[in-house]
Amino acid sequence: MFNPLYAQKKLNMANTIKKATGDFGNLIVLSGPSGVGKGTVIRKLLTLLPNVIRSTSVTTRDPRPGEVEDVDYFFKSKNEFEALIEADAFLEWALYADNYYGTLKEFVSEKQRLGLDVILEIEVQGARQVKAIKNDIILIFISPPDFTTLESRLRHRATDSDSSIESRLKTARLELAARSMFDYEVINEDLDEAVHDLLHIIKAQRLKIHKG
Ligand code: 5GP
Repeated sequence: MFNPLYAQKKLNMANTIKKATGDFGNLIVLSGPSGVGKGTVIRKLLTLLPNVIRSTSVTTRDPRPGEVEDVDYFFKSKNEFEALIEADAFLEWALYADNYYGTLKEFVSEKQRLGLDVILEIEVQGARQVKAIKNDIILIFISPPDFTTLESRLRHRATDSDSSIESRLKTARLELAARSMFDYEVINEDLDEAVHDLLHIIKAQRLKIHKG
């Protein structure tokens, strides 16, 4: 059974060793089509596993009801986003369903330096960019049990316009076809099971011996 105290103790030990060798928190890329439940899986995981955070991305899309600035996203105008591209502020960025999304380099490295594992919840183009520039990362793909389930989740979520849903479904087919570039696939049929699969993958990465 998962014992948070034991997990914390092991993590403190691992972080002491990592600090001595100048090696900090892990980078975990979590991708998967829109509507697959990445956000829900991560929110639940964060309640179970200490010392892991989700990176807050920058986006040009409008906030959805209930979304909180600086927590869900840093909401910016297109001009502000393009200025950040110019300033080389992004680890990766992508254009998705007519909006920009990007991960700030400084946000991620600051958290890693603190010994935290950082999860990037990003789409596949961004995952490909991170894979090309970072070696020691874990790439996890969250799949729906089948395409019909994904389609019905996206339509019932009712947070996006019809054209955005169509664009997301079209992109989802391409994303599902790209899943062989990932290290692990977690199928989100049952939420608890998906969360526990993710938890085990991250714990295994923490126990890995990192080679220079
Ligand atoms: P949503 O509009 O549903 O919040 O996000 C749309 C897609 O963009 C999702 O697949 C989400 O994971 C992805 N996304 C969110 N933040 C980033 C980011 O910083 N970079 C990239 N490449 N994709 C992101």
